[in-house]
Amino acid sequence: MQVLYTKQELNDFVADERNRNNIIGFVPTMGALHRGHLSLIEYALANSDITVASIFVNPTQFNNADDLKNYPRTTENDLQLLENIGCHAVFVPDVKEMYPEPDVRQFDFNGLDTLMEGEHRPGHFNGVAQIVSKLFDAVQPHKAFFGLKDFQQVAIIRKMVEKLDYNIEIVACPIVRERDGLAMSSRNQLLTDEFRSVAPVIYQTLKKSQEKWKEFKNTGQVIEWVCTQISNTELLSVEYFEIVHQNTLKPVEQSEDINGHIGCIAVWAGKVRLIDNFIYNY
Ligand code: AMP
Repeated sequence: MQVLYTKQELNDFVADERNRNNIIGFVPTMGALHRGHLSLIEYALANSDITVASIFVNPTQFNNADDLKNYPRTTENDLQLLENIGCHAVFVPDVKEMYPEPDVRQFDFNGLDTLMEGEHRPGHFNGVAQIVSKLFDAVQPHKAFFGLKDFQQVAIIRKMVEKLDYNIEIVACPIVRERDGLAMSSRNQLLTDEFRSVAPVIYQTLKKSQEKWKEFKNTGQVIEWVCTQISNTELLSVEYFEIVHQNTLKPVEQSEDINGHIGCIAVWAGKVRLIDNFIYNY
């Protein structure tokens, strides 16, 4: 596996592969890799000729300085995991390489960024678009693979691709979970044992809420039920839970059947913020 530190090295690598008519698949990450990330690499390996990953903890998407400072960094281990799985190249730039100058670009996502994660993490999606567009420009992939764990992020990236007219296929990949249902996340390693043992309640509650709609036939009551169940654990505190349309991310009406729509949640487990989602399907 090639480990590339500069845009120039990356450029030379992808130029060669493009000249060989190879399809380039790209998986951007912030490292601290787990099976969720590795599943994206597997999708990329299966659906392209050359798989390029990136590891970069992007400062502009953090709206909380402590979160950025505490974000787990395990680069040596990450490189080993990528090598073992057969990834062809990994781009590991430093902050100066990606931001030689401050990025002042402001993106317009037609309102997709004003709710849920966007509402609670101001500027987050603008920072995501800054780095993903820079990485897309540097890698120039044919396809890019993103996890549905960050459902709203996928919608934002698709909107960015449309607006900036990138010729890149965005492939959305399913959420990988721990055996107890907790969605895998780099931040899970920051959970103490106490919070880790209660965290699976998030997914278990989302799953059960599907049945609850059949009982209540009212979206507002389902939302209230989910928030109550999770808050009852006493250790977990719900930041938001919303049931929204998958494409527009607009809230589902009280009387509307939730089937085909998606419940998105953010929960604080002590100082660690966890997100998850569930697509209703019955
Ligand atoms: P991150 O390193 O958190 O920025 O994530 C990099 C990519 O991995 C994003 O596209 C995430 O959506 C994806 N990802 C993170 N966790 C999971 C998971 N549990 N299952 C599937 N994809 C994931």
